[in-house]
This record gives sequence, structure tokens and C-alpha cells, in this order.
Amino acid sequence: MSELRKDPIVDRWVIIAAERGRRPTDFEAPEPTIPEAACPLCEGNERMTPPEIWALRPGGSMADEPGWQVRVVPNKFPALRVEGRLNRRGEGIFDLMDGIGAHEVIVESPRHTWRMADGPPEMVDRVLETYQLRLVDLYRDQRLRYCVIFRNYGTEAGASLSHPHSQIMAIPVVPRRVKGKLNAARDYFERKERCIFCDVLAQELSMRDRIVIENEHFVAFAPFASRFPFELAIYPRQHSHDFTAMSPEARASLAGVLHRCLAYLRPALGSPSYNYIVNVAPNPTPRPGKPYYWSTLQFDYHWHIEILPQVTRIAGFEWGTGFYINPVAPEDAADFLRNVMAQDARHTSSAEVISGDQ
Ligand SMILES: [Zn+2]
Ligand SMILES: [Zn+2]
Repeated sequence: MSELRKDPIVDRWVIIAAERGRRPTDFEAPEPTIPEAACPLCEGNERMTPPEIWALRPGGSMADEPGWQVRVVPNKFPALRVEGRLNRRGEGIFDLMDGIGAHEVIVESPRHTWRMADGPPEMVDRVLETYQLRLVDLYRDQRLRYCVIFRNYGTEAGASLSHPHSQIMAIPVVPRRVKGKLNAARDYFERKERCIFCDVLAQELSMRDRIVIENEHFVAFAPFASRFPFELAIYPRQHSHDFTAMSPEARASLAGVLHRCLAYLRPALGSPSYNYIVNVAPNPTPRPGKPYYWSTLQFDYHWHIEILPQVTRIAGFEWGTGFYINPVAPEDAADFLRNVMAQDARHTSSAEVISGDQ
């Protein structure tokens, strides 16, 4: 029997329809291949990108030269540009503004074939630190109200370059999907004086059947109303709305959890295309003329990461309803991942606990 489940935060329904006779791992995806000529993101090809915005250069090499570990460049074909003014206006009932924003590419490694799932966590940590630095810098610009940080891996996830990279888009409005989450979290806090994300986490930790991995700072779990097979969420254990406030110690432990989540998707799904999204808070600078806009975030919002493997297709039903159909129960996905991790326990650091071991 299939089950309809409602996401407790955003009121979104999913249909968990585990198909009889199909195992969780029957969605194996082939290694994504993206044909390309000279790669503009490879070390040595720095001149093929626009001038860099920031780079981690431990040896002190010059900008736009080799010798970097992480490099941030503007997108060559940006959807939005930072120059100019918003020029908000109306045309009859229609609202519009100029395409102001920022679109940056974070080149995660000089090596074309590096995969985040390969680690080591120290390299993932450098990428996370870059997200923090870029977010602080972009939010200095009052016009940029929201930054979405994401990674598209593989063709099915929309990646057009195979060199390891993530992207940040800073936009002049808070998008509807983000607003939905923020409003839901605020309403919940107003009713209960508790953070809904903290409550979801507490519930998952008490039930345990969807927990995948946890350490001192972070918990990864398969959400109750997962939209996709092997969808995962990573929450900070301590309440925090501010991704940039994460300490280096906590960030290192996040790098470990994120790396392992991506690594263990492989035994489950082959080499799936996936998106991950770092859900951060909107720009904390009070908005001109709206001093109370999103002013309660420190109490009611809780930043988090979503990992969304793309092994099923979004089709008419999803577009028509906003529902999703997920053929793998999140409990089965979590159980599978815990088992793979337990078999691979030699890689488990003593600080990390795999839920099934308890
Ligand atoms: Zn490359
Ligand atoms: Zn919280």
C-alpha cells in the first residue's frame, strides 16, 4: 500500500510508493559523462574564465595563475549581473525589475577528475569555508536579498561542466520556495516558541529509523516526506540560523558528514546525478523601509543542507500538483545506507556514530 506523507515544514505532500519487487538500489545510474573540449575550470586554463573573485592560494601565487586550491570566478554566462540598479517598476498588473544579482562558480579543485564523494574531508571543508566567505561578502550588498548555494553533479542534475564545482546565485528577492519555509518556521515559532527544525530533528533522533549518520555537530537523515529516492537532509544539532557563524571545528565535522553521505550514495545508486542545496537565511541587513522583515530568523530558522539524487523523472503529475512520487521509502534508504556504512566501519572515525550500531 502506498502512503501519502506531508512534509511537516512546508506542507508538501509526497506519495511514498515502494514498488513491489523493486529494491531500493534498483535505480542505479550510469556514470554521468559530459563531453567537453578544453576545460575552462582546470588548473592552467585560468585565462579561459572571467578574472577570479577569490581564490585559496596557500603558496601565494598570483591571481588568475596556477597554484590555487579553490577558485571563485563569475559565471561566464551569468543569469544576473551585479552592475546597475534594480529599477523596480510595474507594467499594469505586472511587476518587474532589472536582472541584478551575482552568479559565481566555485571551482572546488584544480583537478578535473576530483569528486567530492572521494574526499578527503579536508578538501570538502575548504569548499564549505569558501561558501561562508562568499556569503558574508555577497550579503554586504543590501540589494542582494538571498543567496542560493548549490551543487549540480551530473547531467541529470543540470551540470554542464564535469569539472568539480558548485555555484552561488545572489538574487534581489527572497524566492517563493524559501519564503514558504521561512513563513512556516515563523508561524510555528509564534504558536509554540520552538524551532520547527529543532523539533523535526528531535523527533528523528527519538525514532531513529531514518537517521543515517551523526556526530557531535551534525545529523544526516532521510526526511519523513522525502521527494526522491535516497534524499538526505543534514541539520546542525545546535540551533543556528546563520551558516556563516559555523565554527571551523563544526565545519570540519560537517565536511566529514557531507563527504560520507555522497560517498555512500554510490553503493546505493551507482554514480547518481544529484543536487545539493545549502539552505541559508536571507540577507540579515534590514531592508530599507521594512525594518521588521525576517527579523525573527535567529529564533525560528535553522540552516540545513538537502541532498537530492536525481534518479527519477519529474513529470506531469509533479508539475500539475506539486506532489512528488517517491518509489523508495526513506526508512529503507536509511537502513541501506547504515548497513553500507557499518560494513565500511574501518573508515568511521571514533567521533562518528552510525545509528544502526546503537
Ligand atoms: Zn577541468
Ligand atoms: Zn532550530
